[in-house]
Amino acid sequence: MTENPSLFYQYTLGEIRAWGKERDLPAYRIGQLWSWVYQRGAASFDDMSNLPKDLRAELNARFSLELPTLVVRQRDPNDGTSKILLELNDGERVESVIMPRFSERAQTDPRTGAVRDRDKRTVKDYTACLSTQAGCQYACRFCASGQDGLQRNLSAGEIVSQVMRFRREGEDVSHIVFMGSGEPLHNYEEVRRAVEILTCEEGLNFSSRKITLSTVGVVPEIYRMAKDDWKIKLAISLHAPADEKREQLIPIARSYSLSQLKDALLYYQRLQPRRVTFEYLMIADFNDSPKDAEKLIALADGLICHVNLIPYNAVPRAPFQPTPARKIDEFRNRLRKRNLDATVRYSRGRNIDAACGQLRRRMNQPAVASIEHE
Ligand code: SAH
Repeated sequence: MTENPSLFYQYTLGEIRAWGKERDLPAYRIGQLWSWVYQRGAASFDDMSNLPKDLRAELNARFSLELPTLVVRQRDPNDGTSKILLELNDGERVESVIMPRFSERAQTDPRTGAVRDRDKRTVKDYTACLSTQAGCQYACRFCASGQDGLQRNLSAGEIVSQVMRFRREGEDVSHIVFMGSGEPLHNYEEVRRAVEILTCEEGLNFSSRKITLSTVGVVPEIYRMAKDDWKIKLAISLHAPADEKREQLIPIARSYSLSQLKDALLYYQRLQPRRVTFEYLMIADFNDSPKDAEKLIALADGLICHVNLIPYNAVPRAPFQPTPARKIDEFRNRLRKRNLDATVRYSRGRNIDAACGQLRRRMNQPAVASIEHE
């Protein structure tokens, strides 16, 4: 650890314990400190009333509990999704989203994404969608995040502080998905460290089963993840069932074919016997035909998996249209008939630019409409 004040959220409990040991602090002091930060959500070391004054002064000199600045917050009244735009220390901006999860029976209107009023009362819990990089290097053609390239990796502390920001706002996060801007496996070490901090039993104590990492399919890193024994869930942004089509959407697919990706997933499941999710954007007349469904069924054969069909959310400069809801249902039924587990994920927050990277891009443009400033 360096000697300048650094973000507390960057460190694991083991590292903070080692820091305490160097200073001959009794072990219970570190327990108190950790619980102030992660269980009670303290905003300042000075609030930690049961810590001695000189320790608080030392903590102030050594660490910071500062959270990224909230630039703007938008709430979709239709389904209760909130999106926040955060500014990091160096001025880079990232988005995080918090989405209510409704009971199994909740009905959404396929056209507008609106959740029936009756169902709004059945909110089960809340999922936070976190960014792992500012921008993204992969430039998938349907995604707003990659349109300006990669700015930089986020540190583990910056990833964890997105959850802390939601908690400070009074939001109760129960699940986490790494599906915001960036490619988590392109920032492997910091995301892994963030997972260790988020799942620390003495702190935020997220169950690893409630954390999902979504990747575009960086094949070597899937092997690495399998061996490193992350216990979280894995989702793959598949979006097309054949190489030629996938390459049109996802430039990195030219480096990793679907058969290489499938081999990596078979290996992954031998070591990590958990169901993998395929995310599949439904794009009109591109990947939504019965033939596409057949290819997807063949690709999934041999894997324990689930397909999440996602209506494409139109973004500027992308030449695609969403598949109509009726056709999405047909596609889903076709998969189900062949015993491929499939659901439709009506994206949340459709009225607030919730597709990855849209808010950040729009906020960098001069004209901003209907946004609630804080
Ligand atoms: N790089 C990672 C994580 C970020 S993108 C990955 O590729 O998985 C995660 C998800 O954002 C994509 O799988 C897709 O489900 C969603 N997404 C991106 N652009 C979208 C759009 N225009 N419409 C709907 N979903 C989109």
